[in-house]
Amino acid sequence: MTLKKLDTDIIFVGGGSAGLSGAVRARELGLKAAVLEKLGSCGGDGMIAAGFWIGAETKLQKDKGIEDSKESLYRYFMDYSSYRSQPELIRVLVDRAAANIEWLEKHGLVMNKDVHIHGPTTVPRVHQNEGMGAQYINIMKEQAEASGAQILLKTGAKELIVENDRVIGVNAEADSGEQVEIRGKGVVLCTGGFGRNKKLVDAHVPIKKHVMVRAGWANGDGIRLAHQAGAQIGDLNVCIGYKAEMPTTKGLSMRSFFIIMLSNYPVVNKRGERFMDESIWNAYFAHALYNQPDSTGYIIIDEAIRTGNPFTDLEREIRSGAIKKADTFQDLARESGLPQDIFTATIEHYNRYCEAGKDEEFGKAVAQLAPLTKPPYYAIEVWPLVLNTVGGAVIDANARVLRPDGTPIPGLYAAGNNTSGFYDSYPSTGTGLQISSIFGQLAAEHIKSQI
Ligand SMILES: Cc1cc2nc3c(=O)[nH]c(=O)nc-3n(C[C@H](O)[C@H](O)[C@H](O)COP(=O)(O)OP(=O)(O)OC[C@H]3O[C@@H](n4cnc5c(N)ncnc54)[C@H](O)[C@@H]3O)c2cc1C
Repeated sequence: MTLKKLDTDIIFVGGGSAGLSGAVRARELGLKAAVLEKLGSCGGDGMIAAGFWIGAETKLQKDKGIEDSKESLYRYFMDYSSYRSQPELIRVLVDRAAANIEWLEKHGLVMNKDVHIHGPTTVPRVHQNEGMGAQYINIMKEQAEASGAQILLKTGAKELIVENDRVIGVNAEADSGEQVEIRGKGVVLCTGGFGRNKKLVDAHVPIKKHVMVRAGWANGDGIRLAHQAGAQIGDLNVCIGYKAEMPTTKGLSMRSFFIIMLSNYPVVNKRGERFMDESIWNAYFAHALYNQPDSTGYIIIDEAIRTGNPFTDLEREIRSGAIKKADTFQDLARESGLPQDIFTATIEHYNRYCEAGKDEEFGKAVAQLAPLTKPPYYAIEVWPLVLNTVGGAVIDANARVLRPDGTPIPGLYAAGNNTSGFYDSYPSTGTGLQISSIFGQLAAEHIKSQI
């Protein structure tokens, strides 16, 4: 078995959002940088992200005359998490978010010209880059490599090298069997979530019944490595619940986004009853669905809705029987195993609310009220969708990994979804990319400051 030895300044374990942003920043600061990526291509969840970026006091907000402040975004994050989020981490996130959007633009990312309202707020704060997450990842990877960072694909970190209580490198293994010993001045754990680690998922993910998106290796390696080095681990029982998905879906597809959009139409539980304003914020939706009998819902649409959507027609799922179809509400209930009379009454009431322009039960906005009048009708069974897990190493505002006594482990950093301290549940689209990109860069900046 061959052993490859490498020397660098900063080692990013994981070539997703945090690792690649960090590597670009490290090179900008004149640090030698290496990125270890377990899979054959970079990106992890970053690759399939929608490319949303939250920020306050951004150039685009100012151009559009949108009044906002960093202080107000800070309050939003803290209130939303019921003050579970760590204030010093949220401060840095909020202070850097607008500047980070500019930094990304400087590195070639093009932002769309709209700012969106996502989450339970009235302030438009969510920006989106052209080409979504894939473009962000591809640009960061290109920039990292063009500026001289080494990216080692198919190379998974196995253990940290610790000398005199200081983390000074990583032992890794390539798929070819080659052993890689890489040493530097600091190691940044950026391995993303643990969605593929059944033991951790079963033990910690609170939304027990779910469909989970898992784009990268996602085995929780960074959490294990941090723990072995003596780190405090936190927040493994937080996960990013985000609307709903069909249980038959293994990963994310364009169809998932279709289901997410469809979910604003009436959704009933196993009792055949609606249970919420279906247009509520996506995280609330996932948790509300989780609280229903068997954590199961049924999105109900008609032929007009099905054929009026540009994404897909769901024909495959209808043919396979995964989506139930019938010409009457009674028959649709029978096909779906729902109580026929209750379900029929629920949809008839709903149609009356649509005609009257007022949802008497849950107050859903008029714009979201479309009656179901054109047969056939469809029932799409859904479970809560979990975008990714979060939680892991406890870090400080310099991305240093902390021990249970609050002291930093020399040489060890972490960024992104293998860290704790940011969430109670998902406060807004655009948060995960900002956290990972900013804290990946902060690690590089701190290592630079120590040289
Ligand atoms: C469908 C979807 C859409 C999303 N859209 C948005 C959005 O629009 N805006 C937003 O802010 N957030 C979004 N998110 C969340 C965002 O993508 C994540 O928060 C972000 O990618 C986390 O970055 P990360 O670097 O921690 O992890 P990842 O980007 O997942 O990267 C982790 C990388 O580490 C690698 N790795 C794991 N273990 C090892 C190991 N032992 N050795 C080497 N490499 C390893 C993985 O293979 C992976 O490539 C979305 C998430 C999903 C699932």
